[in-house]
Amino acid sequence: MSKITLTETAKVLLAAKSVIIASHINPDGDAIGSSLALMHTMTKLGKDARVFIDDAIPSIFAFLPGAEKIERPPETITEKLRPDLFVILDASLDRVSRVRELVDAPTLNIDHHVSNDGAADKLYLDADRAATAEIIYELVKEMNAEFDYENALPLYTGIATDSGFFRYANTKPFTMRAAAELMEYGVKPNLVSEATEVKPFAVVKGLGAALSAAEIFHDGLAAGIFLDYPTVKELETTEGFIDEIRVIEGVDVAVLVKCQGENMCRVSMRSKTLDVAKIAMKFGGGGHVRAAGCTLKTSFDEAKKIITEELNRALSEEVA
Ligand code: 5GP
Ligand code: MN
Repeated sequence: MSKITLTETAKVLLAAKSVIIASHINPDGDAIGSSLALMHTMTKLGKDARVFIDDAIPSIFAFLPGAEKIERPPETITEKLRPDLFVILDASLDRVSRVRELVDAPTLNIDHHVSNDGAADKLYLDADRAATAEIIYELVKEMNAEFDYENALPLYTGIATDSGFFRYANTKPFTMRAAAELMEYGVKPNLVSEATEVKPFAVVKGLGAALSAAEIFHDGLAAGIFLDYPTVKELETTEGFIDEIRVIEGVDVAVLVKCQGENMCRVSMRSKTLDVAKIAMKFGGGGHVRAAGCTLKTSFDEAKKIITEELNRALSEEVA
């Protein structure tokens, strides 16, 4: 792996005639937004560009131009795709699932996660950026490409969703300036928040039930929502649930554990001070200091026990 600069990254992109862009499973607004914006920009530069994500695309992102063009690897991969360049956005190579088996090409990884594993051939990592979409915004300029509604809307969406609509600690003057400039191309912030925050009635009721069952521990420094498999099965999404307990007075760390199968529990963490990326990485996950996640291949009860114990330990150490 070699770490490269923004200028070198732009050159690598410009040198390719065909690219396959991939992002992580459990795709969020930044994964989808930065992928679509780069695909559109590369296409306008006359290149052959495709996006592959090995997961379902949440319906809340269907409003993004080009969302319908996102492809998924076939059930059985019989033939490898060989573009000039394989670009992995917003995650390390290990989180693109089967796209890795589908594509055989030199890899360029563009990311803002401190936990990036550095496995790609070339890496452009800027952990000070609130979103990978901010980096793509910089690259559009660096490549002397143009902004229009088709790349501005997904870029704005990536930046807005990853910064909690400009509320999280990762929001910098740069974040706001980039967003303001993207608005010049017709982006309407109210429409982006309406589209991405819409929830089915059943999910809002599920949120109510999850909040009723929420727990606080470690003298009120931690709050948790723990959802077993039958509960999760009834919910289309748990997006935003963790934000509702993050705000509890005195809470530093919020955790959401949701079991998606027999021995498959997803963990999301948010914090004000504790380094949750460190905890997630301990369990093979990753993320940022204040927002991270991992998957525990254990039963629901075991996952709940493991993560509460780990948070109790980390919070004791921090105070000590
Ligand atoms: P979320 O809790 O919203 O799923 O994720 C919070 C942050 O942690 C995001 O930046 C996300 O990319 C990262 N993250 C979540 N789960 C994982 C994981 O299993 N592995 C890695 N490397 N990062 C994760
Ligand atoms: Mn991101």
